[in-house]
Amino acid sequence: MRIRYQPIVPYDPQTTCRIKEEQHGLHPDDIYLKPGRIPHIWCPGCGLGVVLHTYINGLKMAGLQVDQVAVVSGIGCTGRVAGYLDMDTYHTTHGRAIPFATGLALVRPDLAVTVFSGDGDLFAIGGNHFIHAARRNINLKILCVNNFNYGMTGGQAAPTTPVAARTTTTPYGNFEHSFNLPFLAYASGAVYVARWTTFHARHLVTAIAESLTKKGFTFIEVISPCPIGYGRPNKLGSGLDEMKFYRENSLVQNGTDPREADIGLKGKIIVGKFIDQSRPTFDELYTENILSKFKREN
Ligand code: SF4
Repeated sequence: MRIRYQPIVPYDPQTTCRIKEEQHGLHPDDIYLKPGRIPHIWCPGCGLGVVLHTYINGLKMAGLQVDQVAVVSGIGCTGRVAGYLDMDTYHTTHGRAIPFATGLALVRPDLAVTVFSGDGDLFAIGGNHFIHAARRNINLKILCVNNFNYGMTGGQAAPTTPVAARTTTTPYGNFEHSFNLPFLAYASGAVYVARWTTFHARHLVTAIAESLTKKGFTFIEVISPCPIGYGRPNKLGSGLDEMKFYRENSLVQNGTDPREADIGLKGKIIVGKFIDQSRPTFDELYTENILSKFKREN
C-alpha cells in the first residue's frame, strides 16, 4: 500500500459540491464520490477501484439513490471505500462492520445496508459475526473483496490464503486449509450467494443490483488482484496479469453447489450466481412472532 500524505478536506456537503463542480463537475458518478478524498491510497494495479465502480453501477442498476443506502466497512484496504463514497458510510473497527451494520439495518429497514469489507476483516476477526448474521437472516448486503491476504498490514496469510501460497508469514508456503467463502455463506444461511472476479465487472454489477434489492442476508465474493501483498510473493505479475489470469482460468457456472467452489493457488476459479433463495428475515420473524404475540397479550 502506498501512503500519500496530503491535506484532507473536511467533509461538508456544500464544500464538497463546490469542489466537485470545480474539479470533476462533468463526471456523472461524482454524486456518489467525495472528490476531495481523491487520490485514493490504493496501489497501482489493485482491484479495489474496479469493485468500487461496480458498486456505484450496481446502485444505479438497482435504481437506488444515495439516501436509500448506507455502507459500513471494517479495517483494511477494502475498508477505505467508506471514506470515498459520498453517502452515509461508517468505517468501523476491525471485524466489527457486521454488528454495527446489524444495528443500523434493524433501526432503518428502509435502507439497503451494505457491508463492504475484505476477507481478513470479515472472516478472521469478524468471522463469528458473519455466521450469526447469516443464520439470523439479517437484511444485510455483504460485499467481500477477497485478495487472499492481509494487504494493508504487509501481506500476511489470511483465512482465504490457498494452501502453498507464499505470504510474509508463510515464506515456505501456506500449510493451512482456507475457507471456501460461498460455501460458508450458504451453510450459515445466506439467501443469495455469488462469486465474481474484477474481470467480470458486468456480471458483478448485475449481482450487486440483485443483492441490493433482495430481502435478507446476501453475500457476494469478489476475487480481486493485490499485486503488492499477494501477487509479488506468488510471482503472479502485475495487477493486469492477475486480471488476465482471471480471464483464462475462470469457469462461469451459475447454480454450482457452493461446496464445489474451493479455490487453490493458480487453479481454476468457479464463478457465478450459486444461490438465490428465500427464507424469512430476522425482521419478519420478529414482527410476526414476538410483536404480534405481545400485542395479543396486552
Ligand atoms: Fe495495495 Fe493490495 Fe491493499 Fe490493493 S489490496 S491497496 S494492492 S496492498
